[in-house]
Amino acid sequence: MSTTSNVLIPLDKRPIVVTGPSGSGKSTLIQKLFASHPTTFGFSVSHTTRRPRPGEEDGIAYYFVDRSTMEKMIQDKQFIEHAEFAGNLYGTSVQAVQDVEDHGKICILDIELNGVRQVKESPQLHPRFVLIQPKDLTVLEDRLRGRATESESDLQKRLQAARVDWEAAHQPGLFDKIVINDRLEDAYRDLHQYIFGDPE
Ligand code: ADP
Ligand code: 5GP
Repeated sequence: MSTTSNVLIPLDKRPIVVTGPSGSGKSTLIQKLFASHPTTFGFSVSHTTRRPRPGEEDGIAYYFVDRSTMEKMIQDKQFIEHAEFAGNLYGTSVQAVQDVEDHGKICILDIELNGVRQVKESPQLHPRFVLIQPKDLTVLEDRLRGRATESESDLQKRLQAARVDWEAAHQPGLFDKIVINDRLEDAYRDLHQYIFGDPE
Protein backbone atom coordinates (compact mmCIF):
# COMPACT_ATOMS: atom_id res chain seq x y z
CA MET A 1 0.00 0.00 0.00
CA SER A 2 1.17 3.58 -0.66
CA THR A 3 -0.41 6.95 0.16
CA THR A 4 -0.58 10.20 -1.80
CA SER A 5 -2.24 13.16 0.02
CA ASN A 6 -3.90 10.70 2.40
CA VAL A 7 -5.36 8.68 -0.48
CA LEU A 8 -4.73 4.95 -0.10
CA ILE A 9 -3.41 3.34 -3.27
CA PRO A 10 -2.84 -0.41 -3.68
CA LEU A 11 0.68 -1.34 -4.75
CA ASP A 12 -0.86 -3.79 -7.21
CA LYS A 13 -2.66 -1.59 -9.74
CA ARG A 14 -4.00 -4.36 -11.98
CA PRO A 15 -7.75 -4.46 -12.67
CA ILE A 16 -9.80 -6.51 -10.20
CA VAL A 17 -12.37 -8.99 -11.45
CA VAL A 18 -15.07 -9.67 -8.85
CA THR A 19 -17.33 -12.65 -9.37
CA GLY A 20 -19.70 -14.85 -7.38
CA PRO A 21 -23.27 -16.08 -7.53
CA SER A 22 -26.07 -13.58 -7.96
CA GLY A 23 -27.03 -12.33 -4.48
CA SER A 24 -23.64 -13.08 -2.92
CA GLY A 25 -23.07 -9.39 -2.25
CA LYS A 26 -20.72 -8.33 -5.06
CA SER A 27 -22.47 -5.01 -5.74
CA THR A 28 -22.77 -4.24 -2.03
CA LEU A 29 -19.05 -4.80 -1.42
CA ILE A 30 -18.00 -2.95 -4.58
CA GLN A 31 -20.21 0.01 -3.65
CA LYS A 32 -18.60 0.14 -0.21
CA LEU A 33 -15.17 0.16 -1.83
CA PHE A 34 -16.15 3.01 -4.17
CA ALA A 35 -17.73 4.97 -1.32
CA SER A 36 -14.54 4.71 0.78
CA HIS A 37 -12.10 5.23 -2.11
CA PRO A 38 -13.86 7.33 -4.74
CA THR A 39 -10.72 8.47 -6.54
CA THR A 40 -8.89 5.15 -6.55
CA PHE A 41 -11.27 2.78 -8.32
CA GLY A 42 -13.50 2.99 -11.38
CA PHE A 43 -16.26 0.62 -12.42
CA SER A 44 -16.21 -1.16 -15.77
CA VAL A 45 -19.74 -0.40 -16.99
CA SER A 46 -20.93 -3.52 -18.78
CA HIS A 47 -23.51 -3.79 -21.53
CA THR A 48 -26.58 -5.90 -20.88
CA THR A 49 -29.88 -6.82 -22.48
CA ARG A 50 -31.63 -7.14 -19.11
CA ARG A 51 -34.08 -4.46 -18.11
CA PRO A 52 -32.98 -1.81 -15.60
CA ARG A 53 -34.02 -2.26 -11.96
CA PRO A 54 -35.53 0.72 -10.19
CA GLY A 55 -32.75 3.21 -9.53
CA GLU A 56 -30.32 1.77 -12.08
CA GLU A 57 -29.14 4.47 -14.48
CA ASP A 58 -28.06 3.84 -18.03
CA GLY A 59 -24.30 4.37 -18.36
CA ILE A 60 -23.76 4.03 -14.57
CA ALA A 61 -24.95 0.55 -13.56
CA TYR A 62 -24.92 -0.78 -17.11
CA TYR A 63 -25.38 0.30 -20.69
CA PHE A 64 -28.86 -1.12 -21.28
CA VAL A 65 -29.19 -2.24 -24.90
CA ASP A 66 -31.44 -4.48 -26.96
CA ARG A 67 -30.30 -7.91 -28.10
CA SER A 68 -29.72 -6.96 -31.73
CA THR A 69 -27.46 -4.03 -30.71
CA MET A 70 -25.51 -6.32 -28.40
CA GLU A 71 -25.20 -9.07 -31.02
CA LYS A 72 -23.87 -6.56 -33.54
CA MET A 73 -21.31 -5.34 -30.99
CA ILE A 74 -20.26 -8.96 -30.35
CA GLN A 75 -19.83 -9.51 -34.10
CA ASP A 76 -17.80 -6.31 -34.30
CA LYS A 77 -15.51 -7.69 -31.56
CA GLN A 78 -16.16 -4.79 -29.21
CA PHE A 79 -16.16 -7.01 -26.10
CA ILE A 80 -13.27 -8.40 -24.07
CA GLU A 81 -15.72 -11.05 -22.87
CA HIS A 82 -19.45 -11.69 -23.04
CA ALA A 83 -21.86 -14.32 -21.77
CA GLU A 84 -25.52 -15.25 -21.49
CA PHE A 85 -26.72 -15.29 -17.88
CA ALA A 86 -30.26 -16.11 -16.67
CA GLY A 87 -31.69 -15.33 -20.11
CA ASN A 88 -29.81 -12.09 -20.81
CA LEU A 89 -26.57 -11.10 -22.50
CA TYR A 90 -23.84 -9.32 -20.55
CA GLY A 91 -20.45 -8.10 -21.77
CA THR A 92 -17.41 -6.00 -20.94
CA SER A 93 -16.50 -3.70 -23.80
CA VAL A 94 -12.91 -2.76 -24.54
CA GLN A 95 -14.11 0.85 -24.27
CA ALA A 96 -15.55 0.38 -20.75
CA VAL A 97 -12.19 -0.68 -19.36
CA GLN A 98 -10.37 1.99 -21.37
CA ASP A 99 -12.67 4.68 -19.93
CA VAL A 100 -11.61 3.75 -16.38
CA GLU A 101 -7.94 3.58 -17.30
CA ASP A 102 -8.16 6.98 -19.04
CA HIS A 103 -9.14 8.43 -15.64
CA GLY A 104 -6.05 6.87 -14.05
CA LYS A 105 -8.18 4.60 -11.87
CA ILE A 106 -7.97 0.91 -11.01
CA CYS A 107 -10.69 -0.90 -12.92
CA ILE A 108 -13.19 -3.09 -11.03
CA LEU A 109 -15.19 -5.59 -13.09
CA ASP A 110 -18.29 -7.43 -11.80
CA ILE A 111 -18.78 -10.43 -14.11
CA GLU A 112 -20.06 -14.01 -13.93
CA LEU A 113 -18.01 -17.19 -14.17
CA ASN A 114 -18.05 -17.73 -17.96
CA GLY A 115 -16.75 -14.20 -18.37
CA VAL A 116 -14.02 -14.95 -15.83
CA ARG A 117 -12.91 -17.94 -17.88
CA GLN A 118 -12.74 -15.80 -21.04
CA VAL A 119 -10.76 -13.08 -19.27
CA LYS A 120 -8.35 -15.79 -18.05
CA GLU A 121 -7.76 -16.83 -21.66
CA SER A 122 -7.39 -13.26 -22.91
CA PRO A 123 -4.09 -11.37 -22.94
CA GLN A 124 -5.95 -8.06 -22.57
CA LEU A 125 -6.41 -7.45 -18.82
CA HIS A 126 -4.13 -9.60 -16.64
CA PRO A 127 -6.32 -8.81 -13.58
CA ARG A 128 -6.59 -10.13 -10.03
CA PHE A 129 -9.55 -12.51 -9.58
CA VAL A 130 -11.76 -12.36 -6.47
CA LEU A 131 -14.65 -14.71 -5.67
CA ILE A 132 -17.41 -13.53 -3.32
CA GLN A 133 -19.35 -16.40 -1.76
CA PRO A 134 -22.22 -16.57 0.68
CA LYS A 135 -21.90 -19.11 3.51
CA ASP A 136 -24.25 -21.46 1.66
CA LEU A 137 -26.93 -21.54 -1.03
CA THR A 138 -29.78 -21.09 1.46
CA VAL A 139 -28.43 -17.69 2.44
CA LEU A 140 -28.23 -16.82 -1.23
CA GLU A 141 -31.89 -17.54 -1.79
CA ASP A 142 -32.83 -15.50 1.30
CA ARG A 143 -30.78 -12.53 0.09
CA LEU A 144 -32.16 -12.67 -3.44
CA ARG A 145 -35.71 -12.82 -2.07
CA GLY A 146 -34.88 -9.96 0.30
CA ARG A 147 -33.53 -7.85 -2.58
CA ALA A 148 -36.85 -8.43 -4.36
CA THR A 149 -35.57 -7.33 -7.77
CA GLU A 150 -36.39 -10.45 -9.80
CA SER A 151 -39.54 -12.27 -10.75
CA GLU A 152 -39.87 -15.79 -9.32
CA SER A 153 -38.79 -17.36 -12.62
CA ASP A 154 -35.74 -15.06 -12.94
CA LEU A 155 -34.86 -15.81 -9.32
CA GLN A 156 -34.99 -19.55 -10.05
CA LYS A 157 -32.69 -19.08 -13.07
CA ARG A 158 -30.19 -17.29 -10.83
CA LEU A 159 -30.33 -19.99 -8.15
CA GLN A 160 -29.85 -22.65 -10.79
CA ALA A 161 -26.79 -20.80 -12.15
CA ALA A 162 -25.46 -20.57 -8.58
CA ARG A 163 -25.84 -24.34 -8.09
CA VAL A 164 -24.05 -25.07 -11.38
CA ASP A 165 -21.23 -22.64 -10.58
CA TRP A 166 -20.82 -23.59 -6.91
CA GLU A 167 -18.39 -26.50 -7.43
CA ALA A 168 -16.79 -25.08 -10.57
CA ALA A 169 -15.84 -21.91 -8.73
CA HIS A 170 -13.70 -23.93 -6.35
CA GLN A 171 -11.45 -25.24 -9.10
CA PRO A 172 -7.94 -24.84 -7.64
CA GLY A 173 -6.06 -21.80 -8.87
CA LEU A 174 -9.06 -20.07 -10.46
CA PHE A 175 -9.13 -17.26 -7.89
CA ASP A 176 -6.48 -15.19 -6.17
CA LYS A 177 -8.80 -14.53 -3.25
CA ILE A 178 -12.08 -15.98 -1.92
CA VAL A 179 -14.15 -13.76 0.38
CA ILE A 180 -16.98 -15.36 2.36
CA ASN A 181 -19.65 -12.71 2.73
CA ASP A 182 -21.35 -13.73 5.96
CA ARG A 183 -21.12 -10.64 8.16
CA LEU A 184 -20.81 -7.72 5.75
CA GLU A 185 -18.25 -5.78 7.82
CA ASP A 186 -15.97 -8.83 8.10
CA ALA A 187 -16.24 -9.53 4.38
CA TYR A 188 -15.44 -5.92 3.53
CA ARG A 189 -12.42 -5.93 5.84
CA ASP A 190 -11.17 -9.13 4.23
CA LEU A 191 -11.62 -7.74 0.70
CA HIS A 192 -10.01 -4.45 1.65
CA GLN A 193 -7.05 -6.18 3.22
CA TYR A 194 -6.53 -8.29 0.12
CA ILE A 195 -6.75 -5.31 -2.27
CA PHE A 196 -4.56 -2.93 -0.26
CA GLY A 197 -2.36 -5.52 1.38
CA ASP A 198 -3.19 -3.97 4.75
CA PRO A 199 -6.07 -3.86 7.22
CA GLU A 200 -8.67 -1.11 6.66
P1 ADP B 1 -24.88 -9.35 -6.05
O1 ADP B 1 -24.37 -8.02 -6.54
O2 ADP B 1 -23.79 -10.33 -5.80
O3 ADP B 1 -25.99 -9.93 -6.89
P2 ADP B 1 -26.02 -7.76 -3.87
O4 ADP B 1 -24.85 -6.92 -3.47
O5 ADP B 1 -27.11 -7.12 -4.67
O6 ADP B 1 -25.53 -9.11 -4.60
O7 ADP B 1 -26.62 -8.39 -2.53
C1 ADP B 1 -27.82 -9.17 -2.56
C2 ADP B 1 -28.70 -8.75 -1.36
O8 ADP B 1 -28.09 -9.21 -0.17
C3 ADP B 1 -28.88 -7.25 -1.25
O9 ADP B 1 -30.21 -6.99 -0.82
C4 ADP B 1 -27.86 -6.86 -0.17
O10 ADP B 1 -28.26 -5.72 0.54
C5 ADP B 1 -27.84 -8.10 0.71
N1 ADP B 1 -26.55 -8.37 1.36
C6 ADP B 1 -25.32 -8.28 0.83
N2 ADP B 1 -24.39 -8.67 1.72
C7 ADP B 1 -25.04 -9.03 2.84
C8 ADP B 1 -24.64 -9.53 4.13
N3 ADP B 1 -23.35 -9.76 4.43
N4 ADP B 1 -25.60 -9.82 5.03
C9 ADP B 1 -26.90 -9.62 4.75
N5 ADP B 1 -27.36 -9.14 3.56
C10 ADP B 1 -26.43 -8.86 2.61
P1 5GP C 1 -27.27 -8.63 -12.51
O1 5GP C 1 -28.33 -8.87 -13.55
O2 5GP C 1 -27.66 -9.16 -11.15
O3 5GP C 1 -26.79 -7.20 -12.48
O4 5GP C 1 -26.01 -9.49 -12.96
C1 5GP C 1 -26.15 -10.86 -13.21
C2 5GP C 1 -24.80 -11.50 -13.39
O5 5GP C 1 -24.18 -10.95 -14.55
C3 5GP C 1 -23.85 -11.23 -12.23
O6 5GP C 1 -23.23 -12.47 -11.88
C4 5GP C 1 -22.83 -10.27 -12.79
O7 5GP C 1 -21.55 -10.47 -12.21
C5 5GP C 1 -22.83 -10.68 -14.25
N1 5GP C 1 -22.33 -9.63 -15.15
C6 5GP C 1 -22.53 -8.30 -15.08
N2 5GP C 1 -21.87 -7.69 -16.09
C7 5GP C 1 -21.23 -8.66 -16.78
C8 5GP C 1 -20.38 -8.67 -17.92
O8 5GP C 1 -20.02 -7.65 -18.50
N3 5GP C 1 -19.93 -9.88 -18.34
C9 5GP C 1 -20.27 -11.04 -17.73
N4 5GP C 1 -19.76 -12.16 -18.22
N5 5GP C 1 -21.07 -11.08 -16.66
C10 5GP C 1 -21.55 -9.90 -16.19
